Amino acid sequence: MLIVPEKFIADLVSAEDAFAAVEATFAAMAREEACNFPVVREALGEGRQYGFKSGLDRAGGMLGVKAGGYFPGNAGKGIPNHQSTVYLFDPDTGRPTAMVGGNLLTALRTAAASAISIDRLARRDAKVLGMVGAGHQAAFQLRAAARARGFEKVIAWNLHPEMLAKLGEVAAELGLPFEAVPLERMVEADVIVTITSSPAATLMAAHVAPGTHLACMGTDTRGKQEVEPALLARARVFTDEVAQSVTIGEAQHAVAAGLIAAGDITPIGAVIAGLAEARMSKDEITLFDGTGVGLQDLAVAGAAVRRAKERGLGEKVEV
Ligand code: NAD
Repeated sequence: MLIVPEKFIADLVSAEDAFAAVEATFAAMAREEACNFPVVREALGEGRQYGFKSGLDRAGGMLGVKAGGYFPGNAGKGIPNHQSTVYLFDPDTGRPTAMVGGNLLTALRTAAASAISIDRLARRDAKVLGMVGAGHQAAFQLRAAARARGFEKVIAWNLHPEMLAKLGEVAAELGLPFEAVPLERMVEADVIVTITSSPAATLMAAHVAPGTHLACMGTDTRGKQEVEPALLARARVFTDEVAQSVTIGEAQHAVAAGLIAAGDITPIGAVIAGLAEARMSKDEITLFDGTGVGLQDLAVAGAAVRRAKERGLGEKVEV
């Protein structure tokens, strides 16, 4: 099997590669050529989470698992809070084929998912991007969103305002004016990305104007919550996978409250595959519940392995 260490990933997989790989995977899921297996996620105590996301993509010839989790103490040690590794197997034989550093890949595939949702669902004339969150993932989210629409301004809110300066630097890099605002001013945004580890709703329905697209990316575990459930009742809700959306995604709360049902949620892959309508009017609120599926991880890891083989990078080992 080939080991592709974390340090090579930045040179092997671009944001554009991740976008293409994840988009193809979402479409394969909608055509039922690829399926995710149930997520295992356990609390280790002191805020640490560990688990496995896995799946099989028959069309792409990918079988594998991402093992990893969230370790909130890491930031103080100078390493990302998310730590993960992707393992790929031959779908015909079960033999391991690759072990790939999964930290940057996780950020790239998560940002790709929200960018795909913006590309497919946001109004074409979207000008103001609202960011809720300013942690490790937020910078990737901002860069990916900026590729999907011609934004002219970024407004941002974070519970810990001292973290916003770093996000402002990313906006400056992209040539976009940046303003830290109170949550109430999110009503000025055409697209809002939420990417926090919040345990309770911070963005309320009253903070969102008609015609907005939201990419809610932070809620990937039971008990996390970023937006008021009433907002999901007001919106057309899309997701990467309905089963995850209603159990570990943002929709878990609106479903539990009886405001929406699983049948009200459209897989984004169905839009990509031409099986479902995207935005239907300029005033409609669209909301993408990005829960993060194992197949996204396999797709970007597969891209990394292909590039590594082309360039003779990585280490081959017998297992
Ligand atoms: P991080 O630790 O670097 O940043 C955490 C962010 O959440 C910061 O903006 C922080 O200010 C904010 N925050 C912390 N506590 C909060 C609270 N009580 N209320 C509101 N905001 C709070 O984490 P990160 O790597 O940027 O990840 C952010 C979230 O995204 C996490 O919940 C993570 O699990 C999730 N995530 C989801 C996916 C996916 O595929 N959907 C992938 C990766 C990460």
